[in-house]
Amino acid sequence: MSAEIFFEMRGINKVYRMGDEDMRILKDVDLDVAEGEYLSVLGPSGSGKSTLMNIIGCLDVATSGSYILHGRRIEDLSEGELAQMRSREIGFIFQNSQLLPRLTAQKNVELPLVYAGVPPRERRRRAERMLERVGLTDRSGHYPNQLSGGQQQRVAIARALVGNPTILLADEPTGSLDQKTGAQVMELFSELSAEGRTIIMITHDMKIAAHARRVVHIIDGELQEGGGCEDA
Ligand code: ADP
Ligand code: MG
Repeated sequence: MSAEIFFEMRGINKVYRMGDEDMRILKDVDLDVAEGEYLSVLGPSGSGKSTLMNIIGCLDVATSGSYILHGRRIEDLSEGELAQMRSREIGFIFQNSQLLPRLTAQKNVELPLVYAGVPPRERRRRAERMLERVGLTDRSGHYPNQLSGGQQQRVAIARALVGNPTILLADEPTGSLDQKTGAQVMELFSELSAEGRTIIMITHDMKIAAHARRVVHIIDGELQEGGGCEDA
């Protein structure tokens, strides 16, 4: 494995058994991502995007195939090691920000650091810095229901980044946002990419995918490298 390859998937299959029928949801997926890449996975609803994202993010394991993330062979890891991999390597962003309603923006951002055992003062400092990074310093004491959808998503991005993960994994990050707010989130992603973050963004929206520097298409569980977005 060359040093700059960040992750490598070979022949990944995901099969669900439904009754007495096997459903192949991912079909021999090969994917290499280098450190610092900004990649979009573009495909229609039901094509297997979230299934792929869950495998990339170590939330789920493939039925067969090999997946090496940061030098670790994922299929060999125990539940505990997978959890550790997730918390160290991956920052997740979902379509709905999935913030905890009873915690302020600040406390939501601190949460991954609580799980990681970071002391309170350090947690506060790092969460404040991330909220500043996403332009929400003046909203840090607000609860999620006191924030707009775009602001909630920015808090979720701050939460995803606060543990300094090596990869930012976003599943339809603008899916529940209006166009203008979605554009702001995309601008933030572009800035993060320019700073050298590795980003994988999953979307069904060609215009959103076009923000990434590389686009791969997924159709019916098959992944294809896309020359650009125009042939989507
Ligand atoms: P996308 O995110 O592209 O919309 P998904 O990855 O969520 O697609 O789903 C792809 C296909 O896999 C769908 O047909 C879905 O019904 C099926 N699927 C997803 N999860 C399961 C599961 N746990 N059991 C059976 N089928 C599933
Ligand atoms: Mg999905």
